[in-house]
Amino acid sequence: MTDAPRIHLGSLLRTSSDAHTTGELDHLTYEQGGQEQILRFARPAPFDVNVNSLGGNEMYLQGYFHPVVVMECARCLREVEVPLQLKLGTLLRYDPAVDAPFLEEAESGEEVLVFGDPDLDLSAYLAETALLAAPLSVLHAPDCKGLCQVCGHDLNEGPCEHSAQVPVEKIDDELGNPEGTVHARQNPFAALRDLKLPED
Ligand SMILES: [Zn+2]
Ligand SMILES: [Zn+2]
Repeated sequence: MTDAPRIHLGSLLRTSSDAHTTGELDHLTYEQGGQEQILRFARPAPFDVNVNSLGGNEMYLQGYFHPVVVMECARCLREVEVPLQLKLGTLLRYDPAVDAPFLEEAESGEEVLVFGDPDLDLSAYLAETALLAAPLSVLHAPDCKGLCQVCGHDLNEGPCEHSAQVPVEKIDDELGNPEGTVHARQNPFAALRDLKLPED
């Protein structure tokens, strides 16, 4: 069990000195929508964080985080390791009234991490940064055959009794649906849309 990644910003806030923390994480525990979430990594994920004062209650956080997140193959659901090389660079703002740290969009469009405890817990920030950088879906191999829709058999391990009834080629034909393509081209509304384009 690793402790939450924390950086101590008390003396930075008092004297504008810099702060640094580094370590490895096998998981992150954070809160989202009132629920405790756990993000586990395939192996210990190194992180290194520097915080520099920008004057007043504003700071800049820089560093790196190299987690290997574990996702499911979109077709066969087996575990896939996704290594991420994250470069960190985020504005921080100290606001003593804030309970849990949260990300806010500044007027410039830049994200600002707002926090109220000078002993800043980076868990939610690092988890969110990793989840935003991770792909929406992955395949364990480009030619993954997926699961049988009837019995759930992993077709990467060979055919099941249903493979003969629904050949893969037939499914591809249905998805291709050449007739549907022709209808879309002849759709009169598509032509109307084209006519209106110059007004925009
Ligand atoms: Zn797969
Ligand atoms: Zn089957």
